[in-house]
Amino acid sequence: MAKLYFRYGAMGSSKTANAIMVQYNYQERGQNALMLKPRLDSRDGERTVGSRSGLSAPCRYVEELGEIDLSNYDCLIVDEAQFLNKAQVQQLVDIVDDRNIPVICYGLRADFQGNLFEGSHWLMAWADTIEEIKTVCWCGRKATCNARVMGGKVVKSGEQIVLGGNESYVALCRKHWARGELAPLEIRRISAGKEAYMALLMEADPSEEMIARYLDAGEMYVLAVNGQTAAEAVVAPREDGEWELKNLAVAPEMRGRGYAGQLLRHLFKLVAPRCDRLYAGTSPANVDFYRRFGFEEAYVEKGFFADNYPEPILEDGRALTDMIYLVKAL
Ligand SMILES: [Zn+2]
Repeated sequence: MAKLYFRYGAMGSSKTANAIMVQYNYQERGQNALMLKPRLDSRDGERTVGSRSGLSAPCRYVEELGEIDLSNYDCLIVDEAQFLNKAQVQQLVDIVDDRNIPVICYGLRADFQGNLFEGSHWLMAWADTIEEIKTVCWCGRKATCNARVMGGKVVKSGEQIVLGGNESYVALCRKHWARGELAPLEIRRISAGKEAYMALLMEADPSEEMIARYLDAGEMYVLAVNGQTAAEAVVAPREDGEWELKNLAVAPEMRGRGYAGQLLRHLFKLVAPRCDRLYAGTSPANVDFYRRFGFEEAYVEKGFFADNYPEPILEDGRALTDMIYLVKAL
């Protein structure tokens, strides 16, 4: 007998990554699993499901179920199932019961105000198997609530679904969600949506074109204080097998509090298992900063700033020409 599954978890609990893995497991066994999501959610572009980890997979919309020949499928996987309506959950129940095809739904339990989503409500009511996918709050307790964060603050009012807004969501334990308390200080890796930090990236590198050259291949880390982005850094592997700090910037209003150094020390720890040295290319004004963290001068790339940037970059009233490369043994 096929079953209807509801696997729920808070934001960032790897639900989509799990859904993609399950589909892959079916494929490995020579079977077909159809990936679906409700049309309402258009964040990941047309007909794809995407996770914060950067994994993505093509999908069809639940609204298109009537046009799809289900006899070719051994399983249906539904991502973002919280956005289903009652009739769509009923449609999935009928597929399980009448056609004996298992349906696995992934979604959030409750919205940013703590209310059940419509899809989650009916899945909770009708699913054969309900399973929790766990993730943790910054305090270490299980995160069960989803906070909507705007401008570094937890907001408690507004529409249940905001498409294309500037809000982001953070999973918190019930206590910290209720109090609206975000992590005092945390460093997170950003895998999807790096472009959202472009203004801050440009504090360290004024050319969007230059940033585009390393942003995709690089690993990006953000240090946030009470939910507000304070600093970011991008590191990337070099052709010689060592790693290079490509970008390091502190938000103007957060400067002078040691956040760049804190992020830099954390990067040493993160890249040390993968290389012997970390390089950083910089201008004369920043050499002393890096020296404080054990960097030494390695070489100079003549004319780098003059050749790669259309506009002169001024530092202390003079146009920069050469890039100074520093290196730190890890
Ligand atoms: Zn907590």
